[in-house]
Amino acid sequence: MNGIVYLVGSGPGGLGLMTFRAREVIDGADVILYDQLPGRDIINSLPESAELVDVGKFGGHHIRKQGEIEKLMVEYARAGRVVVRLKGGDPFLFGRGGEEMETLRESGISVEVIPGITSAIAVPECVGIPVTHRSYASQVTMLTGHEDPDKPESAIDWEWLARSPGTLVILMGVKNLPNITVSLTENGMDENKPVAIIERGLRPDQRVTVGTLSDIAIKAKDAGVKPPAVIVIGDVVRLYVNQS
Ligand code: SAH
Repeated sequence: MNGIVYLVGSGPGGLGLMTFRAREVIDGADVILYDQLPGRDIINSLPESAELVDVGKFGGHHIRKQGEIEKLMVEYARAGRVVVRLKGGDPFLFGRGGEEMETLRESGISVEVIPGITSAIAVPECVGIPVTHRSYASQVTMLTGHEDPDKPESAIDWEWLARSPGTLVILMGVKNLPNITVSLTENGMDENKPVAIIERGLRPDQRVTVGTLSDIAIKAKDAGVKPPAVIVIGDVVRLYVNQS
């Protein structure tokens, strides 16, 4: 008898923002495949009764390749184990959860997806930035900043983004921030558009850097901004109030 794989979203950080269903399957798992994105509190809370496998992909540093992680999930499930693949935020937003689900389905393994609170909304929210607001933004676009906008094969339409009203929420964008800001201004976005970068949102060492499209890249460099961070571009950033 095959086991089952749960693709579980841990939420953006901290035990309080994880769902009851996530906690339940984690506590009942035989094997948990995790990386560092869920954060220390959650990782420290994983049950000792389970086999814990760090498949750590974090900050561009890969311990195991995606294909290997998927193979492991299939092997454990085929051995009849109850497997949790724990992922930061929500498993289906830039977490490769969709690909993992496909592989499991193709392998004939039962899979249940457990949604999580995504960092794309919760991390700006926790510093007082709503991704939509009747006065500032009636639409929001979430994108990966992993792709260099200069690459001709970029799957992201920067020209369209520069002209679209509303909020841009960029995940995995720290490394490419200089290219992203240039690309948006060159395509016509106002260089005074406010930008906020929230590093390690909802963690004890959370930090916010604010600026405009024209100066945020240099500010981020000076401040030594590092992933994981959520970048928010848009007028909603005006609602950010520095609490420190
Ligand atoms: N599935 C996840 C996103 C995975 S991509 C989700 O729904 O949140 C990884 C990226 O998410 C990071 O590079 C960063 O941009 C963002 N991220 C996740 N958790 C974060 C946190 N606590 N603080 C800041 N950024 C975070």
